[in-house]
Amino acid sequence: MSEGPLAKPLREFPWIPPQRARQFERFGITTLEDLLTRYPKRYEDRRTFDHFPRTESEQPVCVCGTVLGVAVKRLRGGRTMVEVTLEEEMATALSPRLICRWFNVYHVQKMIASGQKLIVFGKPKERAGTLYIDHPEFEIVEGEELSIHVNRITPVYRLTEGITQRIFRGAVFRVLEELDLASLDDRLPAGLDPTPFGVALRQIHFPDSDADREAARQHLVLGEFFAMQLFVGAKRTESVSRPGRNHCGPGDLMERFHAGLPFPLTGAQHRAIAEIRADLAALCPMNRLLHGDVGSGKTLVALSAMLLCVESGSQAALMAPTQILAEQHYLNCKRWLAPLGINIALRTGSKRTESAMPLFDDGAWLDSVVGKPGAVRPATSGPQIIIGTHALLYEAAGLNNLGLAVIDEQHKFGVLQRARLIEQSTVPDVLVMTATPIPRTLTMTVYGDLDVSTLDEMPAHRGKIVTALRDTSKLPDATAFIRKELEAGRQAYIVYPLIEESDKLEAKAAAQEFEKWQKLLAPMRCELLHGRIDPAEKDVLMEKFRNGQAQVLIATSVIEVGIDVPNATIMLIENAERFGLAQLHQLRGRIGRGKHKSWCILISDATDPISLEKLNTLEETADGFKIAEADLRLRGPGDILGTAQSGLPPLKLGNLLSDQAWMRAAREAAIRLFKSDPQLDRPEHRPFRDLITGQRKLMLAQIS
Ligand code: ADP
Ligand code: MG
Repeated sequence: MSEGPLAKPLREFPWIPPQRARQFERFGITTLEDLLTRYPKRYEDRRTFDHFPRTESEQPVCVCGTVLGVAVKRLRGGRTMVEVTLEEEMATALSPRLICRWFNVYHVQKMIASGQKLIVFGKPKERAGTLYIDHPEFEIVEGEELSIHVNRITPVYRLTEGITQRIFRGAVFRVLEELDLASLDDRLPAGLDPTPFGVALRQIHFPDSDADREAARQHLVLGEFFAMQLFVGAKRTESVSRPGRNHCGPGDLMERFHAGLPFPLTGAQHRAIAEIRADLAALCPMNRLLHGDVGSGKTLVALSAMLLCVESGSQAALMAPTQILAEQHYLNCKRWLAPLGINIALRTGSKRTESAMPLFDDGAWLDSVVGKPGAVRPATSGPQIIIGTHALLYEAAGLNNLGLAVIDEQHKFGVLQRARLIEQSTVPDVLVMTATPIPRTLTMTVYGDLDVSTLDEMPAHRGKIVTALRDTSKLPDATAFIRKELEAGRQAYIVYPLIEESDKLEAKAAAQEFEKWQKLLAPMRCELLHGRIDPAEKDVLMEKFRNGQAQVLIATSVIEVGIDVPNATIMLIENAERFGLAQLHQLRGRIGRGKHKSWCILISDATDPISLEKLNTLEETADGFKIAEADLRLRGPGDILGTAQSGLPPLKLGNLLSDQAWMRAAREAAIRLFKSDPQLDRPEHRPFRDLITGQRKLMLAQIS
């Protein structure tokens, strides 16, 4: 990725045979840079080995011993087992032996022979007084090059078959010896970290001490984060330097909308709307993130922004990640905005419902709404607000006059996709909304190119939610409790996970759930809601629930978004462990919307630590930020974001959670740099421009 000496291909080294170079290439390693950024997955301190274990332990041990014998045994069912007996160096008659076993791994028996010295790493288990390690990582120690592989803190790499630790480690060692490390361009601005780049590169692979390794890691993680922040900063510079337009109307329409609401806006909503309004009016394009916990009222802010835009004569689009979500938004919009005379259309993959509103063809709509003859007229006679899935981006039709794109539930919608919007001929203003709060580190990276408005205030008079985790044996108690609440006039959601994606099975599972609950809760009225019910029918049964004709709504996770019934105070979630943490938080956000106390009952028999931590987190906190951080910890950022979808190059060393402070430092450094030299034109900044090019390449490689 760099232009310098690290760009040299491995095949240009005479001591790397072409066949080996090809093998490395298949493993994704073409250049020195590729090789040296395959950082060790762990280290073994081979200056002193562990003693042979005498008891089993969860803690892996790293021992060195001599092979006494290799046996191959046939087991029932055609399986084979290779059993290697090891004896400790300087063993006495009392020293324990260690058995290493591999099942159905044929190459092992070809590699290991009696008399060899072997280093093994794994968790010891005990049976009948004998200690075993099954499938240990191992390495054969041979005479030459001992100084590379033992007697030091030794790196262990994540490898593929055919490339052994010795080969890989040997190559890294030799390359580091041959490179003029001191001549490498620094990848951090001066003053950010004291370790020189070349030193860090050597010490991360072959550390002289744990402290040196830590210092090296700090330098390289900062470097990685800094490159990412440069990339994000460059994107930002690019997007703000494009010409935009004023997409802000006078605001009468929005005021009428607000005046018709049954509640006052929160202070945070007012603030966010003011910030967005200033962006819409400005000539450079808006790139803003609207950040706020479930139920903080983001939709209202988005609709206000869309009204401002529509009033200026441009179209506004609202994009959701799924069809169900898009339909929910469409219904909400119709409910709230159609009375203002706004023409709204739904566009999803399978549907293309032009609005029920007549198309006003001469702009009279606005005059009639705003009551100001001669007010700004829409430039087209098509829909003024278009709601759809993210697929909207890929079809130009109907978006010829797009002034504002609101993107809901942005995790699945990274930097790249947003870039696509910006590439359109007239650059629209972009507002990204989070349905789940994202951990701050991610905001700094994936959304690092955006300005941020935060809704840090919940609408007033929200009831408290109590969350309880119970196993299925407690289901009868839970049912009795629900019945009591229903008799007191409240309503309930019962949520179950989708077991099968197929239409037929889904319908069957839904029907079974429905029957079960209707029996349990008779004579209360239950209704059933799932993804395959057609929208018209869905409207009817939602209306029944909303106006209290039905007391219980049995549903799949389709109720995750958009549904708002303040009298519903109970949510029971079956097989709760099958849902993601963020999703559970979203689901729970459907209750606690009125003045009554609410109850969320999580039913689960899961015993694995991850599920338990997930469910306990929900029991303990309702704070969306804490939940988001736990989610990141449990699943890892790749999963939350799908790094490919985040549009950012992957991290090789840094950890978005534990290295947060360094991300902040890197971000600040990048911002300072762009302030002092927006285009990075100065000659001393050339290495940084190269870094951005490198990041772009990495990212493209990842997508293709
Ligand atoms: P989210 O931020 O999760 O998208 P929504 O926009 O769906 O939240 O809003 C949640 C609920 O709160 C909706 O029913 C909405 O009508 C209501 N709401 C929004 N703003 C306010 C407010 N200022 N006061 C009272 N209720 C509000
Ligand atoms: Mg929402």
